[in-house]
Amino acid sequence: MALIKCPDCGKDISSNAPNCPNCGRPMAAFSGKAVQTQRKGGKYEAAGFVLIVVGIVVCFVSSVVGGLLIFVGFATFIAGRFM
Ligand SMILES: [Zn+2]
Repeated sequence: MALIKCPDCGKDISSNAPNCPNCGRPMAAFSGKAVQTQRKGGKYEAAGFVLIVVGIVVCFVSSVVGGLLIFVGFATFIAGRFM
């Protein structure tokens, strides 16, 4: 068991503690996962990426439709990035 400093209040706390006993701040190891799943832009990023991949495949059949799909996918991906 190691002692780490709370980034909020600077008090030494146990690295095993789920949150700071002094100020109640949740520790990084426990809050990191929650922050990642709460990012709402992530699914737009994923949807945009899928559209780009589908667009590349469709390009072999029709470059106009494929190009449009890549364009829309890219726009969705960028929009998700900045959410
Ligand atoms: Zn604290």
